Amino acid sequence: MQRVYNFSAGPSMLPVPVLEKAANEMLNYEGSGMSVMEMSHRSKVYDGIITSVQQKLREVMGIPDNYKVLFMQGGASSQFAMVPLNLMKTGKADYVVTGQFSGKAAEEAKKFGEVNLAASSKDKTFSYIPAQEELKLNPDADYVHICFNNTIFGTKWNYIPDTGDVPLVADMSSCILSEPFDVSRFGVIYAGAQKNMAPAGLTVVIVREDLLGNAAPNTPTMFNWKTMADNDSMYNTPPCYCIYVLGLVLDWIKEQGGLEAMKKINTNKAQLLYSFLEQSKLFKTPVRPDCRSLMNATFVTGNEELDALFCKETAAAGFVNLKGHRSVGGMRASIYNAMPTEGVEKLVEFMKAFEEAHA
Ligand SMILES: *Cc1c(COP(=O)(O)O)cnc(C)c1O
Repeated sequence: MQRVYNFSAGPSMLPVPVLEKAANEMLNYEGSGMSVMEMSHRSKVYDGIITSVQQKLREVMGIPDNYKVLFMQGGASSQFAMVPLNLMKTGKADYVVTGQFSGKAAEEAKKFGEVNLAASSKDKTFSYIPAQEELKLNPDADYVHICFNNTIFGTKWNYIPDTGDVPLVADMSSCILSEPFDVSRFGVIYAGAQKNMAPAGLTVVIVREDLLGNAAPNTPTMFNWKTMADNDSMYNTPPCYCIYVLGLVLDWIKEQGGLEAMKKINTNKAQLLYSFLEQSKLFKTPVRPDCRSLMNATFVTGNEELDALFCKETAAAGFVNLKGHRSVGGMRASIYNAMPTEGVEKLVEFMKAFEEAHA
């Protein structure tokens, strides 16, 4: 059966060579006589896998030595609670709300302390990212939380905010590995893996060492980042198979030329779509040009029936999951690392034809 161009926001496409390698190794991983799925996480073979995956992630992202990499579960959504549990010392934190996930993160943090809304882009339905001058930061906050790429609204921070001595915490679920980031500018980066890294079930947390050890005393053991750091993410059974697939994805990224090369490819793909949208007489994107996401492009026709027809016709033609998030409607093309340039080119061709038929 023919594979489709899958524009899902997550779980999303994985590179075909990764799926092929995983398939080839499914029954017998490197002569071990078993699948990685069947392996003890305490075995020597698995120890080799998890150690090398962490090493590869450090290398690909340029993670400095004074940062720990944690392989956790519970999704990015569990980090909405773990961030305040692990970082609130005085009980005050700044949140910038630029969409649904950052809003949920702020709401969750209110259970643990005082949340200062440092800025919000709700006034314009989250179609932009506030500028540095607009951030009302509290110098005494324990941390500042942002969502770097807003998966639902299709916006991205085009700068890393300066938060002085206050650690910056970023939800990077939908942009991690899409381009290089200066990790040293962040105190904590976390991401659910199912967008750009691996299958669902793994959450990656990258945390600066000096921020560990401040968890509230009643923090559940499993929610304390220090437990994970002290036990090399092996306090309990980690999401073994997802970590293994992340390793295959990192090998694939290295073959593409690393994150600089991914950025070029991703910028080109996004540009194909946005430049079409800019001149289209039917489709338009609500996002301010300087805040457009490289990973999730949102657009509408302005007519809900036409939007629905577009989603139906694209799906029939092999472009699936283009329907926008249920909370906002319209369309969204998620074009993560694994979406080939050809998929975007063909989608744009389809959109042109649809426009001619309906404009
Ligand atoms: C998908 C996503 C989430 C939610 O991730 P889960 O792993 O499902 O909890 C949170 N934040 C962002 C930016 C996302 O894209």
